[in-house]
Amino acid sequence: MNHQINGVALPDEQGFFGEYGGQFIPPHLKQAMDQINLAYEEIRHTPEFQQELADLFAHYVGRPSPLFHAKRLSDQLGGAQIYLKREDLNHTGAHKINHCLGEALLAKYMGKTKVIAETGAGQHGVALATACALVGIPCEIHMGQVDIEKEHPNVVKMKILGAKLVSVTRGTATLKDAVDSAFEEYLKDPDHFIYAIGSVVGPHPFPKMVRDFQSVIGKEIKEQTHERFGSNPDYIVACVGGGSNAIGAFSAFLNDRDVKLVGVEPAGHGLDTPMHSASLTLGKPSKLHGMACYVLEDEHGEPLPVHSIASGLDYPGVGPQHSYLKDIGRVEYATASDEECLAAFMTLSRVEGIVPALESSHAVAWAIREAPKMPKEIRIIVNLSGRGDKDSDYVAAKLGL
Ligand SMILES: *Cc1c(COP(=O)(O)O)cnc(C)c1O
Repeated sequence: MNHQINGVALPDEQGFFGEYGGQFIPPHLKQAMDQINLAYEEIRHTPEFQQELADLFAHYVGRPSPLFHAKRLSDQLGGAQIYLKREDLNHTGAHKINHCLGEALLAKYMGKTKVIAETGAGQHGVALATACALVGIPCEIHMGQVDIEKEHPNVVKMKILGAKLVSVTRGTATLKDAVDSAFEEYLKDPDHFIYAIGSVVGPHPFPKMVRDFQSVIGKEIKEQTHERFGSNPDYIVACVGGGSNAIGAFSAFLNDRDVKLVGVEPAGHGLDTPMHSASLTLGKPSKLHGMACYVLEDEHGEPLPVHSIASGLDYPGVGPQHSYLKDIGRVEYATASDEECLAAFMTLSRVEGIVPALESSHAVAWAIREAPKMPKEIRIIVNLSGRGDKDSDYVAAKLGL
């Protein structure tokens, strides 16, 4: 796909999307990242790589994922028609498998001997362990001890899939410490190891690479809407944590001005409290994890502790391309609160028989709020990034079901 806006390549050679992105990392790490970028640029256009990825998408992930008309929900709301892009039906239950397969294949083509990553709630860890099992590469997942205790089902799944799980006990023993620990392991031998980042974040080339692997979502939405309606949809809506499912859904439409693109950030307990994770809405341009992007930080430039009911959205930064798209006004970034998200989770479950991930429920919440204000001919595509099995116990306890 041609990733340009107004004829400008995104990102540029140095990995910048406007003033965002880049590589704010020590020289030895920069060398390793440049090597990954070179290999990726070399491999991505080869017929072997493209064919292997396309075959896995079709026969392993189950792509194309369906585009489902949520007719009962649309009728109840009495406004715009809501369609769900069913990434929840992918193998492993979310969009993350799209880029994990790409990263694992890249590792194989580069002759790497180990794939390393961190995981918070375990979603990235499980998707990556799956891809590595399939490709046949050892996989090592670093996870905070606190998260290991909280996310038992995912921990067990990673072990079953053959991943080596490293428990991180330093600091607060959560995601940030897991990132540090995983990077240290990676730096022991960057020639033979590869670090697989779980969203469109981190130093160049990851925001570009992960976006490219996820852009299959938007490509399919375009084919599906043209085949069914003979035109583009009016809106595409997706939740934004790091921003990979959203950029995947948006990429094919960035130059189609007739399509309104909406990213939904978590407002948590409310934007007037510290308990949210709305990096684009309330953060400011800064640097985090090797990239320039919008960041929620304190007056000393330290990232703030953030909150969302959806652990996959709980991140004080956001992808550099989203930071750029916000500044140029191409994408509108809105928010949904924990409460709206829970309500949307239950509504979709009971009206359509589809239990969405709490992350995805933020995008559903936006559609439920906005659709009634629009005429019936308007079509909203909601990217349903994942299924809610992982959240069901939590929601049931929270609502006393
Ligand atoms: C991880 C995750 C997200 C958030 O990640 P993005 O990079 O913002 O897409 C959203 N939905 C689901 C189901 C996830 O597992």
